[in-house]
Amino acid sequence: MSAKIIDGKKVAQLTRDEVKKDVNDWVESGNRAPFLQVVLVGNNPASDVYVGAKTRACKEVGIETDTMRLPDTISAKELEATIQELNNDDSVDGILVQLPLPNHLSSHNVIESIDYRKDVDGFHPMNVGRLTVGQPSFRSCTPAGIIELFKHYSIPTKGKHAVVVGASNIVGRPISILLNKEKGEEGKATTTVCHKFTKDLTQHTISADILIVAAGQPNLIKGEMVKEGVVVVDVGINRVADETKEKGYSLVGDCDFESVKEKASWITPVPGGVGPMTVAMLMKNTLLAAKKSIYPQ
Ligand code: NAD
Repeated sequence: MSAKIIDGKKVAQLTRDEVKKDVNDWVESGNRAPFLQVVLVGNNPASDVYVGAKTRACKEVGIETDTMRLPDTISAKELEATIQELNNDDSVDGILVQLPLPNHLSSHNVIESIDYRKDVDGFHPMNVGRLTVGQPSFRSCTPAGIIELFKHYSIPTKGKHAVVVGASNIVGRPISILLNKEKGEEGKATTTVCHKFTKDLTQHTISADILIVAAGQPNLIKGEMVKEGVVVVDVGINRVADETKEKGYSLVGDCDFESVKEKASWITPVPGGVGPMTVAMLMKNTLLAAKKSIYPQ
């Protein structure tokens, strides 16, 4: 078997087109355009790339945005005071603090200082908690994007065994919660969550009907670790040295694409899989924030 490709670039474009139309309708009905405030601390080159992609997407769909660049010497108190001002500013609908932060800043404290009603990344404990108990919330963009891909390609999850490799708060854990949901339209899978302390990873991955890999380890998953027909979502984005490329590196996922695609029924490529969906879902969340759809007050 050679896998069919889950084309995240295409589905992300469709999602952005839909958001663009909704933003247009929102503005035509007399509302101001949604506004996303990005906060970028320090000079992380990868963060610059991600923020660039997010602001380009905002422009495309008609969301206004600004990137506040702060020095990596900023204190926790100063950063939290800045976020407080944005929380109190009615013209700001969404606040996104690009991670990772410099080591002296606690991402937990910074995320918690954001008003959860403006937390378009869906990282605030209020949103994560509501997601966990099945209440409306901002959903973390990458997991929400994965669910959207399953919907688009009519890939069933009900009754399947979904194995998630990686247990981070922004990808592994929330996607495991969404896939495991018992009520509503989505989820209904049985989930196993693996992490760096998991003994014998293959014992788990080989039994997966759906395998989500978000470990940040290039080539972690090889063809012999999965069963025939598995649906594979490779979330990893890793820079590996590549002299044939002008930049000196290539982007690869966490799966050995060539061997895994021979056994999978569906697979996401890297790049062009989950990454564009993450950005598209951020656009959706920002519009929801502007409309106060999730938290009316
Ligand atoms: P993280 O470092 O916060 O968490 C990694 C998780 O993987 C941890 O739970 C860790 O225990 C687990 N892990 C590490 N090595 C492992 C191993 N050998 N076996 C099993 N589990 C192992 O990372 P993150 O923020 O969740 O990101 C994971 C990857 O996904 C990274 O490559 C990141 O760049 C990428 N990412 C992509 C998107 C996107 O939009 N495509 C979004 C977020 C993160």
